[in-house]
Amino acid sequence: MDLQERVALKKADRSDLYTLEPPFPSTNFLLELSNACNHKCLFCAHQKMKRKVGKMSPEMVESVLRQAYELGTREVGMYATGEPFIVPELPQYIKLAKDIGYTYVYLTSNGSLATPERIRAVVDAGVDSVKFSINAPERELYAFIHGHDDFGKVFEHLVYLNQYRKESGKNFKIYITGILTRYTEHTRDDYFKVFDGLADQIVFKDVYNQGGYMPEIDHLLKCTYDTEQTRRCNLPFDALCVTCEGYLSVENADFENMLIVADLNKVSLKEGWYGEKMKEVRRMFLNDCLEGTLCHGCVHHCQSPAKPLMPEYATENPDIFLDWPVRERIKAAGKPYTKLVYVPMAADIIHPGHINIIKTAASLGRVMVGLFSDDAIRTYKPEPYMDYDQRKVVLENLKGVDVVVEQAEKDYEANLRRYRPDIMVHGTDWREGPLAAVRQKAFDIMAEWGGTIVEPEYTQGVSSSEFKRKVRESQ
Ligand code: SF4
Repeated sequence: MDLQERVALKKADRSDLYTLEPPFPSTNFLLELSNACNHKCLFCAHQKMKRKVGKMSPEMVESVLRQAYELGTREVGMYATGEPFIVPELPQYIKLAKDIGYTYVYLTSNGSLATPERIRAVVDAGVDSVKFSINAPERELYAFIHGHDDFGKVFEHLVYLNQYRKESGKNFKIYITGILTRYTEHTRDDYFKVFDGLADQIVFKDVYNQGGYMPEIDHLLKCTYDTEQTRRCNLPFDALCVTCEGYLSVENADFENMLIVADLNKVSLKEGWYGEKMKEVRRMFLNDCLEGTLCHGCVHHCQSPAKPLMPEYATENPDIFLDWPVRERIKAAGKPYTKLVYVPMAADIIHPGHINIIKTAASLGRVMVGLFSDDAIRTYKPEPYMDYDQRKVVLENLKGVDVVVEQAEKDYEANLRRYRPDIMVHGTDWREGPLAAVRQKAFDIMAEWGGTIVEPEYTQGVSSSEFKRKVRESQ
């Protein structure tokens, strides 16, 4: 099976597998030897990862390799969230897998650490394929996407990999993958020119939300032609991923261990694969009832609250869904992107003034409404008619609103610093009176990262307070 076929299989309909106890996987076995990576790809959740960086113990590597082999697995990939060439013992682990009897041992690497010496070591150890993940075919774009100016170095390593294949007479495969984003989707043809004769196959993948860890990919990075709304996932039915801590995960790049189903320091691989937690996950998939898990956001291309399957193994990352690290990199590179527009409002009674503000904001970018909490409203207005959850539902269903977050106090500082919007939109009604100081503070904070404030003219003749007064008088 070549690389293209392997990639296609991941999204294929495998109805024969969709049961609570599918056969133990014979392929799709990934070992996260380490979760360290020396690159910082724009689309990769590694840049936000808070999980402690570490590497798998030699005992765990040997134990899971032997257990999986005994259960029928014949292929193993030695990578997941990290860069495999970071691991000094990589050649020994490849040799171990080959000695055990694995027929296909493969690597995916960014290639920057694959020096001639390291290449000779992994090739001599018996690796069956080496895939370089090269996400742009020229230096400047490469540095933008990878976060490192390593294109020249990677190219040299790729040339050497080909040269050593000839010299050694070993029959391993050399592949290139390019993860395409809206900034690189036009470069497909260039790959074939630049890497002509240097790979057995070049395979492209459209960037997607990194197993739900990067929902911002949908609005910042995905290819302009990509219209996928939902994604099929076969991983819980045909794949094994062991994290560097020795946990069995459903996902093959589980950055914060949100999808752990078993601790292989305590139970066997077989017990993990057929265990209750794994069955619970498969049941959720079979019933398409994934709410509350990372998989829900992944499959349905959305951002929704996600709890870990086994909280005791996950790393808490309250910043997991913040999109400004990616926005700031795009902005620094001087490339166009969808700006984040922050709009604070109470929205107790929606009137044309709100609609004007939302329309203005939507014309500037992706609208995040900072909805005042009930407590925040009480500090400056009478009790709201609708509580926070009711107001939130109304707003979430208004045209032009992309996301609603809580604005817990009248002062905007906390939310502005947390979400770092490019633009804030506020009516002119805060220019004078007690709100003038709040306005000045907002201007000062936004200026810290080059943000701006747009002030549409306050809509005269409509006021929630006035509506409420009339209602009260008519009762
Ligand atoms: S996050 Fe869940 S749905 Fe997405 S690829 Fe991973 S296992 Fe599949």
